[in-house]
Amino acid sequence: MDNFSFKAMQTAEVEAGKFETREVTRSVDDLPPGDLLIKVRYSSLNYKDALSASGNRGVTRQYPHTPGIDAVGDVVTSNDSRFAVGAAVIVTGYDLGMNVAGGLSHYIRVPAAWAVPLPGGLSYFEAMALGTAGFTAALCIDKLQRMGAKPQQGKVLVTGATGGVGSCAVAMLSQLGYSVSASTGKALNHDFLKRIGVSEIIARETLSQSSSKPMEKPLWDNAIDTVGGNTLSNVLKAVRYGGSVACCGLVESPTLNTSVLPFILRDVNLLGVDSVEQPIAIKAAIWQRLATDMKPAQLLLLANTIGMEQVPDFLGRFLQGGITGRVVVRISP
Ligand code: NDP
Repeated sequence: MDNFSFKAMQTAEVEAGKFETREVTRSVDDLPPGDLLIKVRYSSLNYKDALSASGNRGVTRQYPHTPGIDAVGDVVTSNDSRFAVGAAVIVTGYDLGMNVAGGLSHYIRVPAAWAVPLPGGLSYFEAMALGTAGFTAALCIDKLQRMGAKPQQGKVLVTGATGGVGSCAVAMLSQLGYSVSASTGKALNHDFLKRIGVSEIIARETLSQSSSKPMEKPLWDNAIDTVGGNTLSNVLKAVRYGGSVACCGLVESPTLNTSVLPFILRDVNLLGVDSVEQPIAIKAAIWQRLATDMKPAQLLLLANTIGMEQVPDFLGRFLQGGITGRVVVRISP
């Protein structure tokens, strides 16, 4: 295919240590090599995009860089017989948006091994209303279920509940029939949480304070933790015998101070969850669940839709914990 120009967001270091993200014109020849050239219809914003756009070298080593760890769109050229021209595909994770030009762009080029066919039952928009956040929430739930979590057992706690991963987890758990407790720092968003299926709300500071108590009364059967730090430590102390905690995030802190007591006295399981490097077959299977039994009926309630020009403003809000639900970016619907 001939070279041509298109619009993309780009983060650049404008002065030492100061990063700005703005719209630029790029050309297909600027894109990295790959099997699939994809015309992006929607992308979405995740916490990691905000880290990349703020110059976090743990996420993105080199700038200028186009962030966007999520994309859905149509294959324009393909070197791989599994993907025909015109096929609708989802790309999330691996190195997209980290060190490979990401989804906040009208076009991406990626290895075929990174693409999952858009499952029937999900529109392009719905795929990005879920995005990496929804995919991660689904991985957490899938892992809890594989450890035996069942709706009739009792309550599942979700921390960081109004955020992207948290709100998707709440809506999916509720859809699957679980009773959901939520911890949040946003007093003004209690109605939102109730509408997406929460039955009990806990103030964030109740869990985020450091506590010297070795164990607490068991309050939850299982939990999904998106924040880490003291919160995860306190949650581990308050999960019932044999319960599990799926751990996927670090917005409060990447440090976990814990004793072994929850593990050796209550048989509690701490389950690590990574969405990025999952084998593609597992990604495809989880996306199938997202299109069927895990697809939240309230998905549209979670989604805020923005244009590319609003991306810099929204990226800034992520780092202040100021996002409620999911942010879908309209690229070329
Ligand atoms: P969001 O910014 O959408 O949500 C984070 C939420 O956490 C906030 O909305 C807020 O919710 C809560 N929060 C914010 N600051 C604090 C704080 N200081 N202490 C406690 N809670 C806080 O982020 P995402 O949902 O996109 O990501 C959440 C976490 O999960 C991030 O750490 C991200 O890196 C990680 N993640 C990991 C993945 C993996 O593969 N393991 C994949 C995707 C995300 P509230 O006000 O309701 O408390």
